[in-house]
Amino acid sequence: MSQDSAQSGSETGSTAAALPEDLAKRLARARHWVVMTGSGVSAESGVPTFRDAQTGLWEQYDPLQLATPEAFARDPQLVWDWYRWRRELIARAQPNAAHRALAELAGLKPDLTLITQNVDGLHQRAGSPEVIEFHGNIHRNKCFECEHLVAESRGSTRRPPACLRCGGLLRPDVVWFGEPISSAALGASYRAVASCEVFLSVGTSALVHPAASLAQAALDRQALLVEVNPNTTPLSPLADYALEGSAELWLPTIASCMKQALS
Ligand code: NAD
Ligand code: ZN
Repeated sequence: MSQDSAQSGSETGSTAAALPEDLAKRLARARHWVVMTGSGVSAESGVPTFRDAQTGLWEQYDPLQLATPEAFARDPQLVWDWYRWRRELIARAQPNAAHRALAELAGLKPDLTLITQNVDGLHQRAGSPEVIEFHGNIHRNKCFECEHLVAESRGSTRRPPACLRCGGLLRPDVVWFGEPISSAALGASYRAVASCEVFLSVGTSALVHPAASLAQAALDRQALLVEVNPNTTPLSPLADYALEGSAELWLPTIASCMKQALS
């Protein structure tokens, strides 16, 4: 597979990113895009990725040791407190230019499917009409015992509340390490990839499976694979185009190019 890379404006000394012309043409022609986003898309909104250093109180904890069912079973209050901190941080965060560009692209490309690994709800707040939430949503709870879903009331309580159905403890409705993806999200994602012409991977390290396997499925059907990331990932050498730089730079560039091409 031939691979092109393009650099962001800041690295080339110009003020804007320029989309390779052949890429712009191929993107404009393609009807069905699948866009997969990861936590890099929300980084500039101030939502830290799991791999970023944690701050303050949480510095001493490894998120990989907090985001597991075992951790909740061992110490529900500790895990609840960490998620309460993350919920408050996310409630203060605002969608950024990348989220807004994706909402605009959904208007330009009616067949676009947006899949996110993020649990922060920022795509919906930016106006994306339909979002497949691969890893759940931090603003919802579910029972640790019976899986009953409960919308999160404004502001998390200090202690994990009890389930009204079975008395078990409520936990955030996010997919923890070692847990399966919901069959609805997995099915909808694979169905979308099965008919996509473009697969755009944005702000994800492409390390967490099965999310990362979707890009492979797109490659298997010879979809055009485009990556946006300031860093190299395992996907970069496989991509037709690896756009090096931030989502906030490249997605508005892609959206304005499509607007021009389709008007
Ligand atoms: P990840 O595996 O998606 O890695 C983050 C990637 O973003 C890295 O490759 C990094 O190079 C890239 N990146 C950083 N800044 C960027 C920018 N401005 N533009 C584009 N790319 C940028 O995410 P993770 O932190 O390893 O988390 C793994 C899983 O944990 C996620 O898939 C998600 O389920 C959960 N999580 C969600 C959130 C959220 O909802 N915002 C935050 C942290 C973790
Ligand atoms: Zn219950």
